[in-house]
Amino acid sequence: MRTISAHDSEDPPVNERFDGSFTQQEPIPEDAIEAAVAVMRTGRLHRYNVVEGEVAHASALEVEYARYQGARYCLAVTSGGQAIQLALRAAGVKPGESVLTNAFTLAPVPGAVEAVGARSVLVETTDQLVICLEHLAEQARATGARWLLLSHMRGHIVDMDQLMALTRELGVTVIEDCAHTMGAAWNGVRSGSHGRVACFSTQTYKHMNSGEGGLITTDDAELMARATVLSGSYMLYGRHDAAPPEDVFARVRLQTPNCSARLDNVRAAMLRPQLALLDRNVERWHRRYQAVSGPLASVSGLRLTVRSNAETFVGSSMQFFAEALDTTGIQALMTECRARGVELKWFGEPTPVAYTSRHDSWQYMDNQSLPRTDAVLAKLMDMRIPLTFSEADCALVGRIIASAFEQVRDRSAAA
Ligand SMILES: *Cc1c(COP(=O)(O)O)cnc(C)c1O
Repeated sequence: MRTISAHDSEDPPVNERFDGSFTQQEPIPEDAIEAAVAVMRTGRLHRYNVVEGEVAHASALEVEYARYQGARYCLAVTSGGQAIQLALRAAGVKPGESVLTNAFTLAPVPGAVEAVGARSVLVETTDQLVICLEHLAEQARATGARWLLLSHMRGHIVDMDQLMALTRELGVTVIEDCAHTMGAAWNGVRSGSHGRVACFSTQTYKHMNSGEGGLITTDDAELMARATVLSGSYMLYGRHDAAPPEDVFARVRLQTPNCSARLDNVRAAMLRPQLALLDRNVERWHRRYQAVSGPLASVSGLRLTVRSNAETFVGSSMQFFAEALDTTGIQALMTECRARGVELKWFGEPTPVAYTSRHDSWQYMDNQSLPRTDAVLAKLMDMRIPLTFSEADCALVGRIIASAFEQVRDRSAAA
């Protein structure tokens, strides 16, 4: 997977190249493939299509994920975005209400707020890529918002003790978007266990891969009953084994619409063996993150985020700030890295490329002024770290970025 020129030279290697693919995830484990194929052989792909005494994979996955997360209840759904949408509705967000949310996040987050007819009130991003607590308090007081959809974007976790204390004081309910923090923790508490309800994604580029898929966890019985009916339970919620008791459903079943967002048994079957590997994969990601960021730590003009000791993060991607480079320099850095096989994304790109994470590209919502976030994004670089990269690959990628950065930086300084 790697080609190194100047291999035997005593000088530091120059113009190393990498030829791995930044979008190549690991294959689905063999036992997961077999489980999925076995479901197909039965023809019973729908989660409620079970024979006497059979537990559907979707329900078994919910039980196992609830246990992993340390949550009382779990619901499997079609996508991370649908998980957020259902969680917002089930928590009680009403059309026209304001929902505080991160200005730096991925499009499905404001998209879910929009889908429930609510208004996103965007909150600034700090230079450590987490939600700004001062601005959060300001925005909550200015709008009277009762909800915070907290997105742990790219796996950066804000001080959750401070955030929970603040939101309690503000009377704001927290709904967590854990698309990038599945398997992560704050002070030993799993990410997603702080707020009222948490949403996860099992889309291909997240921490478990079923193509598409999502999970919702909560300890709130009535919220989970509503989410389950919303997900399209056809009143068969009795076949959910990580769900609240019947009497809770009896209170909400006829007041709650069916929005059809169920997970099927094929995808649930392929996720269950992956869950057993999750903690091990978190460690594998951690080693890769250390390997790639190591060579960048001493590059002047380049800044990595400082991770708190309280944070157990999943290094499935890496962000850094090209502080010393202007727009032209950043473009030159991306070109130079691409020429050496390293694919960087830039959140400062004026038009969205491949994914949108800039608030000014969500034009369906009110235009909001976020100068701090704009300044953060203007220098922010992003890179995926798939587990198909070895630790040596990651170290090579880190060296390439460091050398390309120094080259571009010194060239612009000389100009
Ligand atoms: C991927 C992602 C989601 C939702 O994921 P889908 O499963 O693709 O709908 C939500 N939030 C963030 C930050 C994400 O990156």
